[in-house]
Amino acid sequence: MNQVIELVKTNEKKSKPSVGSLGFGKYFTDYMFVMDYTKDKGWHGPKITPYEPLVLEPSSMVFHYGQAIFEGLKAYKTKEGKVLLFRPDKNIRRLNLSCERISIPPLDEDVVLEAIKQLVDLEKDWIPDEEGTSLYIRPFIIATEPYLGVRPSEQYKLMVILSPVGSYYSGQLTPTKIYVEDKYVRAVPGGVGYVKTSGNYAASLKAQEEAEEQGYDQVLWLDAIEKKYIEEVGSMNIFFKVKGEVITPELNGSILGGITRDSVIQLLKHWGIPVREERISVEDVFNAYHNGELEEVFGAGTAAVISPVGELKWKDEHIIVNGNQIGDLSMRLYEAITNIQLGKEEDILNWTV
Ligand code: PMP
Repeated sequence: MNQVIELVKTNEKKSKPSVGSLGFGKYFTDYMFVMDYTKDKGWHGPKITPYEPLVLEPSSMVFHYGQAIFEGLKAYKTKEGKVLLFRPDKNIRRLNLSCERISIPPLDEDVVLEAIKQLVDLEKDWIPDEEGTSLYIRPFIIATEPYLGVRPSEQYKLMVILSPVGSYYSGQLTPTKIYVEDKYVRAVPGGVGYVKTSGNYAASLKAQEEAEEQGYDQVLWLDAIEKKYIEEVGSMNIFFKVKGEVITPELNGSILGGITRDSVIQLLKHWGIPVREERISVEDVFNAYHNGELEEVFGAGTAAVISPVGELKWKDEHIIVNGNQIGDLSMRLYEAITNIQLGKEEDILNWTV
């Protein structure tokens, strides 16, 4: 389907923030993409309009029953000034998976990709080009029908907003302190953990807050039934290097299939480093540590790319991973992925658009 995207221009351009003040998700560009769904017209009227407040009825279903989903990906500016998106087709595929899970009508993936390309192209002056910076792209969908009955909404709004973001790391990758969460859970079997519904993030805040109060950066999520098997770390997927082999929890229905996770697995395979997707318990990880076999632990996600774990606390025990140093494999993966994202290295696996 080839839909024409209408452009509604603005003459009121914002001044761009300095790179030092960027942080994450604080500033938004001049334009956004909007497309509506109604039962009679389906998804229709794609347009790029000035970034501005929305007018919604207080009875809009999203405010009551939480039918809301989102995605997150980045655009990078290369040294030559080219703009690259990293595996955007994967994010759009996952957006539709999220739609499917919470009964939102599916989107034409080509239209969404075209929308992102046109919006980012229009806003390319907003893409910072200093080391580690990027333009964060946030597609999201909310249920807009004014109705209080519990059933899927018959009206939705898809929007894409853009935010210039600073470097996740100031200078060097920094190992994180992780609290193994054995009270709260993020997701349950048969639930919505494998997709990006907004409610998943609301449900995760309390554990994150309590971990921070105790001096930890993030929580390690365990399975909801036995609180035994490892699922994710904060809002990243997790990897363990044990005796030269890399293990990551298999996608079991409550873990989000991260695009960085997939990229890490593909790169490891490409490099000939053994990698397995399987169930792994905290006990196995702590045992591997005691046997001197736990070499590296790292998280993987769009925001940080690779985030080395330096310390894990489980019940009364603390372990220090790899002497709280950044592991060689973590570093190699970080450099390989960011170099591909920035067009500094040959895109051997055809990831950039
Ligand atoms: N798990 C969760 C819960 C997340 O929110 C994210 C971020 N989208 C990830 C893992 C990592 O996914 P990705 O590599 O696609 O950013």
